[in-house]
Amino acid sequence: MAGNIRTVLGVAACKAARWGLRVMKRGGTTLPGRAAMAFDKNILETVSRGMEVIVVTGTNGKTTTCRMLEHAMTASGRDTLANKSGANLLPGVTAEFAANATAGGRPVKKYAVIECDEGALKQVVPLVHPKVIVVTNLFRDQLDRYGEVMHTLEQIRTGIRLVPESILCLNADCSLTSSLAQDVPNQVIYYGIDVPVGEQKNVEISDARYCVNCGTEYQYTFHTYAHLGGFVCPKCGYHRADPSVAVTSIDSMTARDSRVHMKINGISSAVTVGIPAVYNIYNAVAAVCAYTAAGFPPEEMIRSLADVHSSFGRMENFRLGQTNVQMILVKNPAGCNQALAYLKSLGEPYNAVFCLNDRTADGHDISWIWDADFEQVCKDPQLHHIYVWGDRAEDMQLRLKYADAPEDRITCVRTSEELLQKMQESQLPVFVLPNYTSMLELRRVLGGATGKQEFWKG
Ligand SMILES: [Zn+2]
Repeated sequence: MAGNIRTVLGVAACKAARWGLRVMKRGGTTLPGRAAMAFDKNILETVSRGMEVIVVTGTNGKTTTCRMLEHAMTASGRDTLANKSGANLLPGVTAEFAANATAGGRPVKKYAVIECDEGALKQVVPLVHPKVIVVTNLFRDQLDRYGEVMHTLEQIRTGIRLVPESILCLNADCSLTSSLAQDVPNQVIYYGIDVPVGEQKNVEISDARYCVNCGTEYQYTFHTYAHLGGFVCPKCGYHRADPSVAVTSIDSMTARDSRVHMKINGISSAVTVGIPAVYNIYNAVAAVCAYTAAGFPPEEMIRSLADVHSSFGRMENFRLGQTNVQMILVKNPAGCNQALAYLKSLGEPYNAVFCLNDRTADGHDISWIWDADFEQVCKDPQLHHIYVWGDRAEDMQLRLKYADAPEDRITCVRTSEELLQKMQESQLPVFVLPNYTSMLELRRVLGGATGKQEFWKG
């Protein structure tokens, strides 16, 4: 078959599969992308041709950074495609572009913001030729899928080597991420936080204690969180680069938002990040960096950040009867610790729900919960009751017992319906920390109960 016929058939197959899944009320499958690729293995290159694409990869913050970018681009009148469902492997990305192409395979939109799995980067970027690649950070995550964090780093590096024309936006504060600038011809722009943040603890669970080049233990001039901060290797001299897009002061952090000052290519601006927590300040500065690297005015992004709202369970609010419910996705120790620190910073009484599944998308290995600092909330007098739920609820319960949570304050909930009822009956705000597949399941149940649309239909 000629190339263009294969493209036409691939696009048609993708759209038919998506339509079929929608009719059957099913979401989150790789079928539409696989259908398209069955006709044309590299169809993604055709259906993204000529588009200006920003790709976001890294362990934590991909989805939120993408939402920030998409929000600013759409608000500024740029018709933007995004893989909102979090389908971030090659078939999912392919499906999103193919579904937004004409029958002949020409893209309809001019811009795209794509979240890409670290391991899939080397498959995706040679086909979409990104204008900008953002790497958020590297933490230990889903060990049984990718092995050590160094292996993930090498996978990202392999992907970047395939697209020397792409501009890299790298987190200057992450010694692993910023090492990607070595040995690649790409233009590099660094972003970061120039000042220490909050309490300096949990440094001991660092995922990158030793120099990526020579193995010597890093020294730090300041820490932001986990292994991020002003690292310097006393032996070989590898050190944090001076970021050209940087948070220069953190003026306030509340449960609603954070107010900071950012220096963007030498110009200082006051920025309100409309969602709370330190890691969202990182996502915001990454988004500003990528936005300006793509050639768009930073004022647009700054304006948009003030009213960007949490999306897709990463930090999402529900009103369930009289109860306020906030859901925060956690999937590794560093992200979990940030979410727990956020709960502790609220200073008001609350109930918590910890959800743990161990399915394929969760990476099977749940041992990371033993590295997360649950102790900090289990001893928090503001935390009144804890509910645990999911395939591995008992493991979570055990972990909390070791964190000294009083046994009479932990309830193991069997079904999602029961959990929903417990949350509805709560007199206090409820904070739910699920891992990936438990988040999807809970999102469906909560969506049904509150009338919110299921996310893949949005
Ligand atoms: Zn060194």
